Amino acid sequence: MIEGKRARGVAYYHGNHLEQVRARREVLVAAGAFGSPQLLMLSGIGATHELQKFGIPVVKDLWGVGKNLQDHIDYVQTWRVPSHTDTIGVSLRGSAKLANAMLQWRGKRSGLITSSIATAGAFMRSSPEVAIPDLQLVFVIAIVDNHARTMHLGHGISCHVDVLRPYSRGVVTLNSPDPRIAPSIDPKFLADERDLHLLVKGGQMQQRIIESKPFDSIRGKMLYPASLDDPEGMARDIRNRADTQYHPVGTCKMGPDSDPLAVVDAQLRVKGIAGLRVVDASIMPTLIGGNTNAPTIMIAEKAAELIRSGQ
Ligand SMILES: Cc1cc2nc3c(=O)[nH]c(=O)nc-3n(C[C@H](O)[C@H](O)[C@H](O)COP(=O)(O)OP(=O)(O)OC[C@H]3O[C@@H](n4cnc5c(N)ncnc54)[C@H](O)[C@@H]3O)c2cc1C
Repeated sequence: MIEGKRARGVAYYHGNHLEQVRARREVLVAAGAFGSPQLLMLSGIGATHELQKFGIPVVKDLWGVGKNLQDHIDYVQTWRVPSHTDTIGVSLRGSAKLANAMLQWRGKRSGLITSSIATAGAFMRSSPEVAIPDLQLVFVIAIVDNHARTMHLGHGISCHVDVLRPYSRGVVTLNSPDPRIAPSIDPKFLADERDLHLLVKGGQMQQRIIESKPFDSIRGKMLYPASLDDPEGMARDIRNRADTQYHPVGTCKMGPDSDPLAVVDAQLRVKGIAGLRVVDASIMPTLIGGNTNAPTIMIAEKAAELIRSGQ
């Protein structure tokens, strides 16, 4: 709810009833990298032509709302392993092991089911010339296919590789002026070829690790064979299967007035609207080279400090 150029409160659905709550001091939007730009656009803050498509009256023309979407693209390679290994899988032996593991957990609070499943990780530089890691690996003691939505019989190990600082930029746009309809999300993964080249390098590196000697006794066939000696084949596999590691940021970018993409200032205040801040991962100007949860908590802590000190 915006009156003039000041946020005065929030309207929300409680069941089918539209309710209102008025803010004494200010409104904080913390709906995440997809929800926050959607809420701003529904409130008339965004690129004029985008809002006009849905008949939303423009309160503030802010071109960057929903733009600059960045996410960690993730490529998983999986190898089958025998069922006697300490992995989580669908098999007779695996079920018996899991039943024992449950007993062990109940008695001793230890064992296989206390595993995080993603048991190892690494940050790597794709070449010696790169100053800081540009690839991340996450190693998993299970078959991971299509975000684990596609189930497979048997056991496996998987390795994820992510491009830590992607060049590709995506976009969040409205599908409807109704807040109950999800926005459209287009990460435009691999729009910039540099991300593809780096991901192929990462795929080759993770394959070299799993094909090293210590894995010889357990490593079986690859679920989706992609040879490290065939970068074009691997690039095709990446285009077919690579997807998000769930770290979207950037759609309400923090930046100076001179930046046409900037949505909030250094105090997280929405430009041109009083009493309105965005406090979540969407304000990150660029994706950090690691997981996004802790930095988002840091953004919230910083915002709490700013608000308490009246800034
Ligand atoms: C499956 C998954 C695994 C992840 N694993 C890790 C990990 O291992 N390590 C790590 O560091 N990060 C991880 N992340 C990323 C991390 O969770 C996010 O970076 C972080 O939660 C971002 O915080 P946020 O406050 O910006 O958004 P969110 O945590 O998404 O919070 C936004 C909230 O707003 C609500 N909302 C949205 N729209 C509206 C609306 N219109 N009205 C009311 N409420 C609304 C949503 O329901 C949600 O509760 C993972 C994310 C996912 C999805």
